[in-house]
Amino acid sequence: MATATASILESIFLKRSQQKRKTSPLNYKKRLFVLTETKITYYEYDFERGRRGSKKGSVDLEKVICVECVEPEENPPPERQIPTREEFADTEQISIIERFPYPFQIMYDDGPLYVFAPTEDLRKRWIHQLKHVIRFNSDLAQKFHPRFHQDGQYVCCAQTAKNAMGCQVLRNANGILKSGSSQRRSRKPLPSAPYDSSVKSVKPLPPVPSNVDSPLGPQKVVAMYDFTPINSQDLELHKGEEYLLLDECSGQPWLRARDKNGQEGYIPGNYVTEAQDPLEIYEWYSKNMTRSQAEQLLRAEDKEGGFIVRDSSKAGKYTVSVYAKSSGEGIIRHYVVCESPSNQYYLAEKHLYTSIPELITYHQHNAAGLISRLKYPVCSVRSTPSTAGLGYGSWEIDPKDLTFLKELGNGQFGVVKYGKWRGQHEVAIKMVKEGSMSEDEFIEEAKCMMKLSHENLVQLYGVCTKQRPIFIITEYLSNGCLLTYLKESRSRMGRGDLLSMCSNVCAAMNYLEAKQFLHRDLAARNCLVAEDGTVKVSDFGLSRYVLDDEYTSSLGSKFPVRWSPPEVLLYSKFSSKSDVWSFGVLMWEIFTFGKMPYERFNNSEIVDQVIKGVRLYRPQLATEKVYSVMVSCWEEKADDRPSFRNLQATILEIMEEL
Ligand code: ADP
Ligand code: MG
Repeated sequence: MATATASILESIFLKRSQQKRKTSPLNYKKRLFVLTETKITYYEYDFERGRRGSKKGSVDLEKVICVECVEPEENPPPERQIPTREEFADTEQISIIERFPYPFQIMYDDGPLYVFAPTEDLRKRWIHQLKHVIRFNSDLAQKFHPRFHQDGQYVCCAQTAKNAMGCQVLRNANGILKSGSSQRRSRKPLPSAPYDSSVKSVKPLPPVPSNVDSPLGPQKVVAMYDFTPINSQDLELHKGEEYLLLDECSGQPWLRARDKNGQEGYIPGNYVTEAQDPLEIYEWYSKNMTRSQAEQLLRAEDKEGGFIVRDSSKAGKYTVSVYAKSSGEGIIRHYVVCESPSNQYYLAEKHLYTSIPELITYHQHNAAGLISRLKYPVCSVRSTPSTAGLGYGSWEIDPKDLTFLKELGNGQFGVVKYGKWRGQHEVAIKMVKEGSMSEDEFIEEAKCMMKLSHENLVQLYGVCTKQRPIFIITEYLSNGCLLTYLKESRSRMGRGDLLSMCSNVCAAMNYLEAKQFLHRDLAARNCLVAEDGTVKVSDFGLSRYVLDDEYTSSLGSKFPVRWSPPEVLLYSKFSSKSDVWSFGVLMWEIFTFGKMPYERFNNSEIVDQVIKGVRLYRPQLATEKVYSVMVSCWEEKADDRPSFRNLQATILEIMEEL
C-alpha cells in the first residue's frame, strides 16, 4: 500500500501567485512541486545546488474538486510561450527550466491554483496522476473554467468570484480534454519586454496545442440508459443518443435538456454522461467490476470467448477479461488495453484503433493474439439507477397513485409495504405510525434528503403528508434487509462478495460524508439488498425524528449501543467519525454473516468494555488486512479514525489484491 507521504511525482513548474489579497501582486515563480497521496506541496528550489529549499505552501488533495488544462494566455511573455520549431531544434538556446508554456489548474475551496509545466507530456502526466489521487473525492466538479481568472474575472465567462461554478462541462475522465473544434486565436507579435534577446525576436506562429477545447460550444451529454418520462415535465431518453443541456445546473439530480427533435424537458442527471463516446452504452462494459468479480462471472457463464471490458486498477486504463476453454478446462486472461504514442488503442498485437469500441469490434472478429476472439459479451445485471424522486420537482406524492401489494416488515415507525406508483414503478411505503415521529421536522428535512442521490443509497422518492398516517415513499429493494440476507446466504458467499458489500456501503458513506450528512444509525439492519446483490444504505438521518426515549437516549434499550463509539456513549457526540465507527461494526456484521456484535454482553456491560478499550474479535473470513480496516474504525479518538474516502480507497485496494 502506498504511504501517504511518499512522493508520487516531483517537477519544477512555474506557479502563478494566488493573489489571496486583492493588493497582492500577480507573479510567476519557479517552484518544486511534490505530489503525495494526500497533498501537493511546493518548495523553493535551489538551482545552484539542485536541492529542495523551504516549503512555500500546499494544497490538501481532499479539497480538490477539479484538475484540468487551462487555455494558454492570449499573449504570453516568452517565459510562458511554446517554443517555435527553430527554437526546439536549437536546444542550446532553450532549457527546459526556462520555458513553461503548458498551464493547468488545480481547483479547490477558494479557487484555482495555476501551474505551468515545461512540456505537454509532463502536464499530461501530472493531470493524470492528480485525477487518479482525487478520484474518490465526492465533490468533484462537473464543470470548469477553461480560461484563466485574470484582472478580477474569468476570461471565459466573466464571473468574478474565484470559486464561481465552472462554465464548461468536463468532457471525459481520461486526464485531458478531448481535442475538438479548437478555436485558433490569432497571436499578436511578442511584446518588446526586457527579455533575453535569444528568445525575443518575433517568431512564426507557435504550434497551437491541440488538446484544449474551445470554451464555447454546446454542452452535450449522452444517455447511458433509457428513461421513460414520469411527469409531464420530463423528457424521454434513448440510450446512446445525444442531448443538449439547457441550464447551468449540472450536478443537480434533474437537468433541463433538449433532444435532437427539439423536445425539451427534465432528465435524471445520473442517466447521462458528458463523455463523447461513453462505454456505458455497450453491454460488454462493466465499469466498476474487479478482476475477481470478472473471473467469477466468466466462469459462471462458461462460454468459449466470453469477455468483459472493465476499468483497470490503473487509473484511466481498461482491461479486457477473456474466457476460453482448452481441453474442457476454463482459462481466463486479462489484457490491459494499451495506448500507442499516437493515442491509438491496441490489445495483444499492434492492430491500432482510435477508440475502444472499434478495437473491440475488431477483436470480435479476430483473435489476433488473444486466447479467443471476443464472442460473447458477458454482463452483470446492470440495473437502471433510481431517479431522485418520481419525476422532476415532485416530492409530494398523491396517495391515490399508490397501490399496496404486500407487507414487507415492521419497523420503528410501523408497517412497511411494497407497492406500485401509478401501477408501474415499484416502491416501498413506510406508513408512519402516529406519535412515532416528529413529522413536521421530518417533512421539512425530506426536501433536502430527496436531493441525496447515490447508487448505494436507498433513494427517497417523496412523501404523502396530506393525510394521517403520513407515508414515506422510497426505492424498493427486492432482496430486503441486509442482516437477514447475510444470515440466509452464508454458504453462497466468499470473501470477494463480502468485501464488495463493504465497498458498496463505504461508497454511500463517502458520499454522505462529503455532503456533511450524518447517518447516526448505520448498521446491517439499516441496509437493504437489491435484486443484483448490490447493498444500499437506508434510513440515513432518520433517527433524529424518532419519538421514543428507548431509542433516542443512549441509556435506552433500543439505542444502538453496539454500533456506537465511546464519544457517543459518553457525550452523545455524533460526527462522520462516529459513522466510521459504526461502519467498522457493520463490516464485522458482514464478515460474521450477521452475528450480534458483543454477543454475550448486555448494553451496560458493552459501554464499560468499549470504554476500557475492548474491541470485537477478528471474524474467521476476515484476513489481517480486512481486520485492520475494521480496527482502524475503532480508534478511541475520533480524529484517529480514517475518513470514508480513505476507507474506500483501502477497501478497493484489498479487493484488487484478491
Ligand atoms: P424502520 O427503519 O422504520 O425501523 P425498516 O426500514 O427497518 O423500518 O423496515 C422494516 C423492514 O421492511 C425491513 O427490515 C425490510 O425487511 C423491509 N423494508 C423496508 N424498506 C424496504 C425497501 N425499501 N425495500 C424492501 N424492503 C424494505
Ligand atoms: Mg430501519
